[in-house]
Amino acid sequence: MEFNPATRCFVAGHRGLVGSALLRHLQDQGYNHLLVRTSGELDLRNQAAVEAFFEAERPEVVFLAAAKVGGIAANNEYPADFIYDNLMIEANVIHAAWRHGVKKLLFLGSSCIYPKFADQPLVESALLTGALEPTNEPYAIAKIAGIKLCQSYRRQYGCNFISGMPTNLYGPGDNYDLQSSHVLPALLRKVHEAKVNGQRQVVVWGTGTPRREFMHVDDLAAACVHLMAHYDGAEPVNLGVGEDVAIKDLARLIQAVVGWDGELVFDASKPDGTPRKLLDCSVLHGLGFKHHYDLEAGLRHTYEAYLQNLGEVVAV
Ligand code: GDP
Repeated sequence: MEFNPATRCFVAGHRGLVGSALLRHLQDQGYNHLLVRTSGELDLRNQAAVEAFFEAERPEVVFLAAAKVGGIAANNEYPADFIYDNLMIEANVIHAAWRHGVKKLLFLGSSCIYPKFADQPLVESALLTGALEPTNEPYAIAKIAGIKLCQSYRRQYGCNFISGMPTNLYGPGDNYDLQSSHVLPALLRKVHEAKVNGQRQVVVWGTGTPRREFMHVDDLAAACVHLMAHYDGAEPVNLGVGEDVAIKDLARLIQAVVGWDGELVFDASKPDGTPRKLLDCSVLHGLGFKHHYDLEAGLRHTYEAYLQNLGEVVAV
């Protein structure tokens, strides 16, 4: 498939962490037929609205980065929203993409689709070989449905719909709300505020022993564009860096980047979630893609963007 700057390309979810990084990346590369809609302009959970949008705009390529996402607490508290919103968004967009002859679609899932106790690093073929982590099972089930939608439309109708499974992401544009965010932005904010307010302690949820893999979202965006250009298979492709870190070591690295040497207090009454979810990225690497940021460089870049953003808020 021809994928070049003249391609009419719909970036679904362009206000989110992933979609906004994709938009920046595509704009940097000179793509000038980018279609975007805010959720206010186009509710992707509404089938008729999605149909009308595809009918009017006729995208040739779709990056499906729109999703209801959140950290461990949000997933626990709003399971209905996490399963319903994601199922509706995927079903509507993928079905409309088929009906309107989209040439290629990339669906983005998550590493939490893999069984809780699958062998690590997680290979793509581990999908559906065991029970899921309960704290985000509704979200994971919706994301697995998205993969199966892509595979089913490929099998029945010959659609070139592919799936990528990103690891935990971070970077500019992340959600820093302490109740609903993921661990990395939460700790960056807590440590920053401790520094600014002269606090001596920061609370880290859980035991600090679970391990997570983190990818800078600009690397993820580049990986998505790489898949769009170079991958046409039915199997999902893991999108990560191939290395993980214990939460307590992530917290220490954040302390170093922010420049705060207070004490970390572990609150074991909060859930740990899955013990580890490191992706095997050999398929991605075999396609010729390698990430740019290591965790420390990515954290420095993200902290700069966080500070800049705070500056803007203060200036308004
Ligand atoms: P998960 O990867 O789906 O489990 O989601 P999270 O990113 O929310 O959490 C990852 C791990 O970080 C879990 O073990 C959390 O308990 C732990 N964690 C430590 N401190 C925090 C925090 O302040 N916020 C969040 N969301 N997680 C934290």
